[in-house]
Amino acid sequence: WAIAEADLVCLVTDARTGLTATDEIAVRDLRRAGKPAWLVINRMDGCDERLAAAEFAALGLDSQFATAALHGRGIAALRDALAARAASVPDEMGALDRDGSGASRVAFLGRPNVGKSTLLNRLLGEERVLTGATPGTTRDSIAVPFEFDGRRFVLIDTAGVRRRSRVAARIEKFSILKSLESMMLADVVVLLCDAAEGITAQDATLAGRAIGAGRALVVAMNKSDLIRDNAARQRMERSRDLGLRFLQGVEIVELSALRGRGTKRLMCAVLRARESARVRVPTPKCTRLLETAVERNRPPATTGGRTRLRYAHQGGSRPPRFIVYGSRVEMLPASYRRYLENFFREQLKLVGTPIVFEFRSTPNRFAE
Ligand code: GDP
Repeated sequence: WAIAEADLVCLVTDARTGLTATDEIAVRDLRRAGKPAWLVINRMDGCDERLAAAEFAALGLDSQFATAALHGRGIAALRDALAARAASVPDEMGALDRDGSGASRVAFLGRPNVGKSTLLNRLLGEERVLTGATPGTTRDSIAVPFEFDGRRFVLIDTAGVRRRSRVAARIEKFSILKSLESMMLADVVVLLCDAAEGITAQDATLAGRAIGAGRALVVAMNKSDLIRDNAARQRMERSRDLGLRFLQGVEIVELSALRGRGTKRLMCAVLRARESARVRVPTPKCTRLLETAVERNRPPATTGGRTRLRYAHQGGSRPPRFIVYGSRVEMLPASYRRYLENFFREQLKLVGTPIVFEFRSTPNRFAE
């Protein structure tokens, strides 16, 4: 039954005794059950790793790990691989989420030197990510589970955060691809900016990408400890206010990763964004919201007649998607669509998530 319950089975074998008939029977059972299986060769201490690996390769399992559980060797690699797999299987995460116990998957994005590694070290509470690391010195995992203030998170890492290199150009290109990939796996993207520089054009592009991909977003103004005088503070606030205007509903949090100030504020904003992205609004409430919005501000009349909006329901989440039915919906100007979006955002108190509206024409018999 353990096999039947599992999504993945780790078959643990003993390097000292070598391949046994029991191992072969276990693999046969796993094949029959159609379960993916990883091979963990344990008690590797004092054994020739290559010989053992070659011997167990006969089992034909596709992922091999060498461990010495007693000494804790190889365990981190196995744990990271398991975490990465858990984060990359959407159904599994979905199942976790349904009972509300799912961890929030967060990706940190930002230009080099904005303080991503410093922040991660703060959050992880140990020196797991090396600041200014040389290639090959940081670990390769892409998903690291951690707890902050009693809440569970999974850090979806970008190669850009972990692997810094002097051969910048090549790696930089690679890491942008990687950042996009980690963005897709995350529930919430945290975009780090430098508070002294404000939200730069490059930051804005990254923010736009995240929103375009339908991700929830929080912007962090890092290095706020460097904002010492009034002039610097005013510059930062101007940039923040500008940012707030073009990033509808996104929270901008001040932070000093170095001093450890504002990390709790940041992670609370992450949770709010995640909850907003996953909101579920019952159909009667959607329709009521739509009616109220229309009462307060009717769609403008056009030459073909006035657009009528009748009812709405939620078509999906992450990000929330609302389907609005009516007549002459194709005449609705963009400004009215934005009004509806803002109205829904305010009434439902949604922060940090894009909201998608789709308009559909009702069949003629409903039209006047
Ligand atoms: P990354 O390239 O985004 O990973 O940036 P790092 O974490 O390597 O940080 C780049 C530099 O900025 C390092 O020298 C950090 O010590 C410094 N730094 C990071 N966060 C802060 C902060 O909150 N305040 C200050 N003053 N410096 C910081």
